[in-house]
Amino acid sequence: MAKVYGDIVIDIEKCKGCELCVAACPQDSLEQSREVNSKGYLYIVKVQDNCTGCINCALVCPDGAITVYREVAGGKKKEVAKVKNVNKDMTITVDE
Ligand code: SF4
Ligand code: SF4
Repeated sequence: MAKVYGDIVIDIEKCKGCELCVAACPQDSLEQSREVNSKGYLYIVKVQDNCTGCINCALVCPDGAITVYREVAGGKKKEVAKVKNVNKDMTITVDE
């Protein structure tokens, strides 16, 4: 099976440093930063470029801080998972 290349974007201002995403990542791609965001939380950073785009991190994040992308034909990236409106009517977008 061909390797799937993924990537994530973390909205560090939404992150509360709970580390649920760190525990959920099968690739050990994520770690807590030593820097704090404007609210004083130690936010999460990507520490390895080995993401497969499995979407686990986006699904477990209670604050919708992570957007997951996967590489598609032509080397372009496509958004595959994002959680929105976590404090209102939750919308989970997953494109498998
Ligand atoms: S999408 Fe999967 S592999 Fe990539 S950072 Fe999130 S949990 Fe880890
Ligand atoms: S699960 Fe979300 S809020 Fe928690 S550390 Fe990860 S990105 Fe931050």
